[in-house]
Amino acid sequence: MKKHYDIIIIGGGASGMMCAVAAKRKDPSRSVAILEKNDRLGKKLLSTGNGRCNLTNEKIGAEKYAGSFVMQSKAVFDRYGADRLLKYFEDLGLLTSKDSEGRYYPICRQATAVLDVLRFTLERVGAEVICNAQIRSVKKSGDGFSVRLAEDELYADKLVIACGSKAAPKLGGTSSCADYLKNLGHRFVPFSPALCPVIVNSRVLRSLKGIRAACELTLMNGCKILKKERGEVQFTDDALSGICVFNLSLFAQKGNIISVDLLPDISNDELLNKLNNNRQLFSEKTTDNIFTGILQKRLAQAVLKESGITGFSDLCSNLTDEELKNIAYTANAMCFTVAGKAGFDRAQAALGGAHGSMINENTMQSKACDNLYICGEAVDICGECGGYNLHFAFASGLIAGESI
Ligand SMILES: Cc1cc2nc3c(=O)[nH]c(=O)nc-3n(C[C@H](O)[C@H](O)[C@H](O)COP(=O)(O)OP(=O)(O)OC[C@H]3O[C@@H](n4cnc5c(N)ncnc54)[C@H](O)[C@@H]3O)c2cc1C
Repeated sequence: MKKHYDIIIIGGGASGMMCAVAAKRKDPSRSVAILEKNDRLGKKLLSTGNGRCNLTNEKIGAEKYAGSFVMQSKAVFDRYGADRLLKYFEDLGLLTSKDSEGRYYPICRQATAVLDVLRFTLERVGAEVICNAQIRSVKKSGDGFSVRLAEDELYADKLVIACGSKAAPKLGGTSSCADYLKNLGHRFVPFSPALCPVIVNSRVLRSLKGIRAACELTLMNGCKILKKERGEVQFTDDALSGICVFNLSLFAQKGNIISVDLLPDISNDELLNKLNNNRQLFSEKTTDNIFTGILQKRLAQAVLKESGITGFSDLCSNLTDEELKNIAYTANAMCFTVAGKAGFDRAQAALGGAHGSMINENTMQSKACDNLYICGEAVDICGECGGYNLHFAFASGLIAGESI
């Protein structure tokens, strides 16, 4: 079957659904179709925010993002900041509320609420949804595009690439947009995992598996500080994980160092005093008790190992001043060497996508190919954890839909 649409949107996730809603609300007479490869819309959206969907943040701003579209993203956020996006959602029927860290969620704390208002709006405005779409090819055809499916050939005057990134393949993540965009003459930055655990080399890591601790992390390239984060670190057998680590993963490269301050609220001098005190209090106990009352035992043992104390049979009273200094220093700056990042299956998002220099930030239109629009994670921009990625997906989808 051959069929013509005014607008075809590839990808029925956050950005694609929002783009379709905006395009139909702008001009209901236009025919709009969403092609989604999954058997339903918004599968990834349902898993966001642990099923609660952290859809935006009061601190939205370009400084929360990385990638080649970052400079231009300011125009996107100026047009659709958190307040305007939330108002748009409210008009669609969604009520939201903010947590103590400025993250917005649906008031019922269920991602299904976000998906349902989008799905029901799509039905109401008359956008066509084609699920289980198996796209064979996407080509330029005259001024428009032809999209070949397994059985059908579709044509569109305008095409929107909203099929996301390679992150989380079980929820629909693919690199399809790379193929489509490259074929349409677009510059493309290869995808790499982001917002994921960081694989590290350390001789003490295995002994820490399963521990969670509130820390401050400093990502360094040599002596240069790239980023600092605070939060709960989860130690796994090959990686550091947790939201603060995910945020560092946006910038981490192999060979960087992550310095972990296990006691970020205690200065090095204070800690040294405390350890001196413990040396007396627990003088008859073995050295691995030196952090009694301060650190979890397994973390304490790892700190001792890292600072060169190997056997723990000796007594606290025998620790020298020099050894105590080393121990205190290590607890405030335990170093892990970055060996890489966990794969796309453990990533919440990806860096890479359509290069920013080839996208008009006021319309999300491609500068490389007429009548082509790109939004969401298919664009080379990735935000920190906290609602920044969904915000960009929704805002860029809205701008694309309103500009077409
Ligand atoms: C577990 C998890 C939790 C997350 N939590 C949050 C959070 O709380 N807050 C936040 O801001 N961000 C969160 N994110 C990130 C956020 O989900 C994404 O940034 C956002 O969904 C991107 O929107 P998108 O529309 O660009 O892509 P997607 O939502 O991934 O949508 C793309 C759609 O395109 C479809 N598709 C792909 N290829 C094709 C093809 N060839 N043909 C047809 N369809 C195709 C996919 O199946 C998918 O439905 C989370 C991600 C994960 C994995």
